[in-house]
Amino acid sequence: MSNWILGLTGGIGAGKTAATTYFESLGIEVVDADIVAREVVQPNTPGLNAIKAHFGSAVLNHDGQLNRAKLREVIFSDESQKDWLNKLLHPLIREQIITQLAEAKSSYSILCAPLLFENGLQSYCQKTLLIDVPESVQIIRTASRDNVSQEQVKNIIAAQMSREEKSQLADYIVNNDKELADVQSELLSLHKIFLQAAKNY
Ligand code: ATP
Repeated sequence: MSNWILGLTGGIGAGKTAATTYFESLGIEVVDADIVAREVVQPNTPGLNAIKAHFGSAVLNHDGQLNRAKLREVIFSDESQKDWLNKLLHPLIREQIITQLAEAKSSYSILCAPLLFENGLQSYCQKTLLIDVPESVQIIRTASRDNVSQEQVKNIIAAQMSREEKSQLADYIVNNDKELADVQSELLSLHKIFLQAAKNY
């Protein structure tokens, strides 16, 4: 089991997946908070059962999967429903993250979370790494990847912790506003540091 955990974060479209894909190619196991957040509301989970009991079947698709757009709509204008949902999901997500990290077998493992600092998940991590690009690059890359408007990306950025604050909190920062090959060589140097830290942990 790997006890040494790197928390990896970055704003929308900053390049977290690009970075974790590279770390995975080096044999490092990654627990992705976004994936876990979807896993805890799969059919027949306590998460989805509680949502169904609270909001009714209107928030489900015909195949029994959660209809995220519908749920977003329901909680959008109702702060108390949003709170209810967060109180349900956050502990489930946390528990599942801890379980998956405990099962990881690589020399160290990575917890990737866009809201690592916002949700206090860095408390599970020995060190943190921020993948960073200027906002203009976040906007261009996300809008072209997801086929959404620049305005939508700007709104999401505005709802996340600022780059400045994240930079203050992170132990390491990698600028991803350059060729991927150059980014990867920086990540490789850090990988060697993390391997050593994990060995001495
Ligand atoms: P999200 O928070 O939305 O999940 P993310 O932080 O995981 O995003 P990625 O999906 O890794 O970001 O990157 C955003 C987009 O930018 C992708 O289309 C990716 O291919 C591209 N990209 C990432 N890094 C680079 C780079 N160094 N050069 C060019 N394009 C890049």
